[in-house]
Amino acid sequence: MKPHRPLVAGNWKMNGLRSSVEELQKIIAGAKALSKVELMVCPPATLVAQFAVAAAGSGVAIGGQDCHAQKSGAFTGDISAEMLKDAGAAAVIVGHSERRHYYGETDSTVRAKAEAAQRAGLLPIICVGETGEQREAGQTLATVGAQLGGSTPDVANFAIAYEPIWAIGSGRTPQPKDVAEVHGFIRDRLRSRHGEKADGVRILYGGSVTPANAQELLAVDNVNGALVGGASLKAADFLAIAAVYR
Ligand code: PEP
Repeated sequence: MKPHRPLVAGNWKMNGLRSSVEELQKIIAGAKALSKVELMVCPPATLVAQFAVAAAGSGVAIGGQDCHAQKSGAFTGDISAEMLKDAGAAAVIVGHSERRHYYGETDSTVRAKAEAAQRAGLLPIICVGETGEQREAGQTLATVGAQLGGSTPDVANFAIAYEPIWAIGSGRTPQPKDVAEVHGFIRDRLRSRHGEKADGVRILYGGSVTPANAQELLAVDNVNGALVGGASLKAADFLAIAAVYR
């Protein structure tokens, strides 16, 4: 199975109001020249339905940033994968390091959310990545391997985002050879669990991707796109990153 088109997804985190649809419109306009890459915007939950309507038929997909594992019920403040699907989302980020850190999400929570996304017909984008301390202690592959084993469903219909936690929002990025090592390791682990289906899983790099470093980072073997935080808030920067795949 061949990898799909590369995916460049923007994680807007807790940023954006209804008026931010103007930035989405700019992304939609720019996407017309970028047929080799799939573009996705993951706004806050309040904007998913509005953005999905605005992006309908444009080729720009809309995603959520988190979901609950259950379909519905007494979970105040949560939203289910089915609700995101109903609002027009095509995907959902699960297990972002901010969710793991601030909300104590474990690998098994993340796996349950990823399975919920699959149940609802959404593509889960499952985040993994080591802390700075773990990298310095030589524990990067062990950490990523454990997260991968514990957070991913048995059915290989998902994307992985490798996001070194120390690179998120810091302006620091790993060396391309370090990205190659981790992405190659992830591919090998996926192959031993899922066989040839593993080759259809897109492995995104995330962490301080900018127009200035995108060319170098996205050219690395087994990097099939990017998960972009800060730089995805400005259409021009987001499009310049995706234009690596022109
Ligand atoms: C993220 O948090 O998913 C991320 C990649 O953030 P940034 O690009 O801002 O480092």
